[in-house]
Amino acid sequence: MLYFCRMKYPLVIAGPCSVESEAQILTTAQALAQIPEVKLLRGGIWKPRTRPEAFEGRGEEGLQWLLKAKQATGLPTATEVATPEHVELALKYEVDALWIGARTVVNPFSVQQLADALKGTDIPVFVKNPVSPDLNLWVGAFERLQKAGLSQLAAIHRGFSYYKESPYRNYPMWEIPIELKRILDLPVLTDISHICGNRELLGDTAQKSVDLAFDGLMVECHHNPDQALTDANQQITPEALAKLLNALTPRAKQVANDDPVLAALRSEIDDIDDELLQLLARRMNVSSQIGEYKKEKGLTVVQMDRWKQILTAHLETGANLGLSKELIEKVFEAIHKASIKSQL
Ligand code: PEP
Ligand code: MN
Repeated sequence: MLYFCRMKYPLVIAGPCSVESEAQILTTAQALAQIPEVKLLRGGIWKPRTRPEAFEGRGEEGLQWLLKAKQATGLPTATEVATPEHVELALKYEVDALWIGARTVVNPFSVQQLADALKGTDIPVFVKNPVSPDLNLWVGAFERLQKAGLSQLAAIHRGFSYYKESPYRNYPMWEIPIELKRILDLPVLTDISHICGNRELLGDTAQKSVDLAFDGLMVECHHNPDQALTDANQQITPEALAKLLNALTPRAKQVANDDPVLAALRSEIDDIDDELLQLLARRMNVSSQIGEYKKEKGLTVVQMDRWKQILTAHLETGANLGLSKELIEKVFEAIHKASIKSQL
């Protein structure tokens, strides 16, 4: 068993997007080894690129350099694997932990091949979320690995492809990894580099990850980020990483049971939730009566004009009360959907 099976969280995984040369990985690793929070050195060996002419990683040669960096610094290593051949080579060069990338997790055939190749190793495996916001696909990848007997699993949240304009390279949609954590009870790290796609948003995103009780960070670091062969815009120097980590405000994950302020506020929330539930039940009841009436009069269940009117009015009232458009839309869309269902 690998010594770092009992991984300590929070955990910071740092290192270059790609291993580019012996000097690059050694210089970067030596600086990272000075940062106590960094427990694992990452380095991409096979890079999944959108366009075929882009740099696709150094392959086996890069693994030799990654091993040298581990020997020189004592930092255990991690790399991305996408095929059984990658697994075989990574194990040959004593890589300590693996991750499955976002583009691989979308394909259950690939994940199954990796699970089969990993059978019997019990090496720690991090599973990134799939590119698309599909929680089940992410959960399914863990199930395949668990079935293959892998027990040291953790997730990496790297954001999702999003069709709307956004300041992020990959939109965080924090609710999805939070739900994954609830379902699988696994550590979830945040890959702030691939979420942000730039250096400016990294600090705030890392803080958000801490505030939301995630279990660590993955950060792309390069001794000379501007010259990086891949993801130059988002990589930072080890020195910048140290600064970023120092600037984080920690938050306790557990609250003291006897905290009187929190206890009082929580009791208030419980009362309000109770009222909300009573109101919802009353509303559904009236909605059913309307449904009966529509049936009697031969009216369609969906009355689009009325629904548009309600939503517009609620959005206006909500805005006056300081409630976000997103919240009002989500809540009333859910209520409307349930009402329609009850009237069918
Ligand atoms: C990476 O970590 O370098 C990478 C390619 O990430 P992702 O799979 O999240 O795009
Ligand atoms: Mn990258």
